[in-house]
Amino acid sequence: MLWDLLADTGAQLRTDVQLAELTTLRVGGPAAVAECTTTESVVATVGALDAAGVPTLLVAGGSNLLVGDDGFDGVVVRIATTGVDIGTDGVIAEAGANWDAVVGSTVAAGFGGLECLSGIPGSAGATPVQNVGAYGAEVAGLLRRIRLLDRGSGEIRWVRPDELGFGYRTSVLKHRSESVVLAVDFSLRADGSSIPLRFGELAAEVGATAGRSQPAAQVRDAVLRLRAGKGMVLDPADHDTWSAGSFFTNPVISPEQARHLQQAVAAEMGEITMPTWQAPNGVKLSAGWLIEHAGFVKGFPGSAAPARLSTKHALAVTNRGGARAADLVALARTVRDGVAERFGIRLELEPVTVGVAV
Ligand SMILES: Cc1cc2nc3c(=O)[nH]c(=O)nc-3n(C[C@H](O)[C@H](O)[C@H](O)COP(=O)(O)OP(=O)(O)OC[C@H]3O[C@@H](n4cnc5c(N)ncnc54)[C@H](O)[C@@H]3O)c2cc1C
Repeated sequence: MLWDLLADTGAQLRTDVQLAELTTLRVGGPAAVAECTTTESVVATVGALDAAGVPTLLVAGGSNLLVGDDGFDGVVVRIATTGVDIGTDGVIAEAGANWDAVVGSTVAAGFGGLECLSGIPGSAGATPVQNVGAYGAEVAGLLRRIRLLDRGSGEIRWVRPDELGFGYRTSVLKHRSESVVLAVDFSLRADGSSIPLRFGELAAEVGATAGRSQPAAQVRDAVLRLRAGKGMVLDPADHDTWSAGSFFTNPVISPEQARHLQQAVAAEMGEITMPTWQAPNGVKLSAGWLIEHAGFVKGFPGSAAPARLSTKHALAVTNRGGARAADLVALARTVRDGVAERFGIRLELEPVTVGVAV
């Protein structure tokens, strides 16, 4: 039946694919996968599946997904488009284009703007979904518009950032399935300079004063270096990168809660100060700091376990080879519950879960 349904969509159908093959955590059970290499095929495939009432899951790079061991009972629509068009002051990329390749090609063509988001795995089309961010930059501040398919009406239109409800690692697209991003359009800086460097560690790495711009190529190299040191650039040989990046978001709490927590930490830990940052809607804490100071050090629970925290970064839950989704979930629960018990803060998951709950 699926073969007939998708016959005219241009999608390539494979049944009984292990989703572990399509995710960077390398877990996830079986599903049928319809691979779409053109935007027309994405639109036709999603349309045909929706019309027939078949449950669908959109997957591109699989780098922000935790899929359960039972897989997905429906069809995975794999977005595998690749087109990238660099203009005089912006770049338009099809949704499936590899994000870091997009960034790299703009920098190589002499443009700045996207360099701080170098090395982030996955696709261009997924970047607005969770308002991808790193090293002081966020998609929300760089995006001009996205091309969106409305699955309810079938309408395709360009949508401006102010319609997307961007927040810290979220947007109206996250955890929702009404729309498909078909393409993204980002502003670029024609003078080849980076955006002002807001992140102290990055500014120091390029020898610049925080708040100043630097040549984009130099910033890109520095970002890739810093990220590699934390296991945040995909490397098949390095199990610290068999992850979904940061597994928890940094909690944002009220200034009053933050004051109480600071006092409690000072009373119990003496010299140690808990890092905090001002955020638009409160005070942001470091999830990594909370995890480590709740006793979950890098590499927890030790080398024999198939699921461990990264040995480079306590915020990444990783698969050491042979872990199942259930192992990753058990580790994530232990960490989340331990942080709640120690600090009274409930950590929220950053990746999207399918068929599992943490
Ligand atoms: C080592 C590592 C480091 C990371 N570092 C960062 C970081 O610094 N900052 C950061 O923000 N994230 C980071 N991430 C998370 C991840 O790379 C990003 O969220 C990325 O944008 C996900 O892209 P993807 O194509 O892999 O999405 P997928 O994992 O394939 O999908 C993620 C979600 O988006 C949906 N989706 C995918 N494509 C579309 C589309 N075209 N239209 C609508 N919905 C869609 C999916 O259905 C799913 O719900 C990291 C991940 C890893 C593994």
